[in-house]
Amino acid sequence: MSHNRYDVIIIGTGAGGGTLARKLAPTGKRILLLERGENVPREKDNWNSRAVNLEGKYQTKEVWRDRNGKDLHPHTNYCVGGNTKFYGAALFRLRKEDFGEIRHHGGVSPAWPIRYDDLEPYYGAAEQIYHVHGQRGEDPTDPPRKCEFPYPAVTHEPRIQHLAEDFAAQGLKPFHTPLGVMLDENDSRKSKCIRCGTCDGFACLVGAKADAQVLGVDPALEFPNVTLLTGAKVERLETSPSGREIAKVIVSRGGRREEFAGDIVVCSCGAINSASLLLRSANDRHPRGLANGSDVVGRHYMGHINSVMMAISKCPNPTVFQKTLSLNDFYGPSSDWEFPMGHISFVGKLDVDALRAGAPAIAPGFVLETMANHSLDFWLTSEDLPDPNNRVTLDREGNIVLNYKVNNEEGHRRLHAKLKELLKQQRACGIHGHDCHQGLFARNLFVGDRIPLAGVAHQNGTIRFGHDPKTSALDINCKAHEVDNLYVVDGSFFPSSAAVNPALTIMANALRVGDHLIERLG
Ligand SMILES: Cc1cc2nc3c(=O)[nH]c(=O)nc-3n(C[C@H](O)[C@H](O)[C@H](O)COP(=O)(O)OP(=O)(O)OC[C@H]3O[C@@H](n4cnc5c(N)ncnc54)[C@H](O)[C@@H]3O)c2cc1C
Ligand code: SF4
Repeated sequence: MSHNRYDVIIIGTGAGGGTLARKLAPTGKRILLLERGENVPREKDNWNSRAVNLEGKYQTKEVWRDRNGKDLHPHTNYCVGGNTKFYGAALFRLRKEDFGEIRHHGGVSPAWPIRYDDLEPYYGAAEQIYHVHGQRGEDPTDPPRKCEFPYPAVTHEPRIQHLAEDFAAQGLKPFHTPLGVMLDENDSRKSKCIRCGTCDGFACLVGAKADAQVLGVDPALEFPNVTLLTGAKVERLETSPSGREIAKVIVSRGGRREEFAGDIVVCSCGAINSASLLLRSANDRHPRGLANGSDVVGRHYMGHINSVMMAISKCPNPTVFQKTLSLNDFYGPSSDWEFPMGHISFVGKLDVDALRAGAPAIAPGFVLETMANHSLDFWLTSEDLPDPNNRVTLDREGNIVLNYKVNNEEGHRRLHAKLKELLKQQRACGIHGHDCHQGLFARNLFVGDRIPLAGVAHQNGTIRFGHDPKTSALDINCKAHEVDNLYVVDGSFFPSSAAVNPALTIMANALRVGDHLIERLG
């Protein structure tokens, strides 16, 4: 076997690729991981809000274009572990209903070609690997689970506990957000996680976040049959003359072109980069892009309708680790509305530098500081629907173009209004005797409410899986219908986006595809 030939090549080491690497490593097969980024350096700036939020130190400097040809500076990270290095580690299963067709105000969210039950055991396995802390039975929409959460729920700090009690008094069912952190609240001496205020959006300086580097790639690399090349950007996939298999993986590394071959090639570059790689790999046999006879590659881009809502009151919010509470009472149809609105949770506690990064330049520092000290910083997620015209394409120079027009917005608007209404009915928080009723008002972090297009954190849908090769690019094992040795295991395969965070579903699916590959490889 040539030294550049492997049994399996995995491109990208994020939630999908990193998890698959861990799953396949014990097989003894020769596995190559190709990652365009480097390891995130461990340094004090990991936890420096100014460096992270204002200077964008770890974010890619790559420039994409929007549909008007304007520059787009994507909030995405190229590194070992992918975006999980920076994620908030809220690790949700999709709801059982999310796998079926759902009627929304803006249209229909299509069914998946697999059922929740097909993924259930893999959700359980992914929760084990990624140290998920949670409390069974609290979330009214939580799908049936065969096993308990592997770790107890992360407790609320007093301000959040107070809010949870208020929500409960209003007849709602607040619950503890399932979180992937290596926290032991009973033994702080032994706990890797210190419950700091710089988790969501930051890399963990002490390696206590359950990310795909620490818990996917690193354990895989303990096996001698697994090799990782960093700074290795895959430029193109070349097929055999028949077009039925990938013959060469073309990589640029350190300014040089290198070629690798794999019996199996798994693309896991994130939904936008995987689609662009397939489009860039067009050839005579695949004129519209690799594995794209259906013309769906790059289409149906989804990224959720997300906003940050700061609810600012006289009541101070001294919470350090804020992301412990969620609300799914409006996830599906409710007595308030016949259609789904979405999911309410928290971002990490915002500070002055985070606000400065999103605030108009005229806002004086002391105003931002007061806001940050008093705000509850909610994260609202609603489902966006797969529109074929929302798509990733390439411009003439091969740069990524992201064409997206938001849809299904009414539910999100109502979710905002509902949360504001609920917050107006809160009790005095009792912290320093302040009354939350007075002066409570809601302000949005981003002008115009929403996380802008550049916020591609929840990207998915661009290489959907399905039974029909005319309407999907991947089969139900996430193998390309048209290429026998090509698989995709990042967020691209989603036929619909649901309205909870995507990473656990990507991880669980990678484990499912891993089982299929183990069987195939024999
Ligand atoms: C700030 C932030 C907070 C988030 N919080 C949450 C959360 O709380 N819960 C949740 O579920 N999700 C969260 N997410 C989203 C979550 O991180 C993603 O859904 C998940 O990482 C996607 O996994 P993936 O495998 O599709 O892609 P990624 O994790 O993005 O991995 C793709 C990898 O491919 C590499 N790559 C790309 N192109 C190439 C190429 N051409 N050659 C070689 N390598 C390449 C990239 O460098 C990267 O390592 C958050 C994301 C961000 C940015
Ligand atoms: S120590 Fe815990 S809270 Fe802080 S970044 Fe690491 S995992 Fe997150």
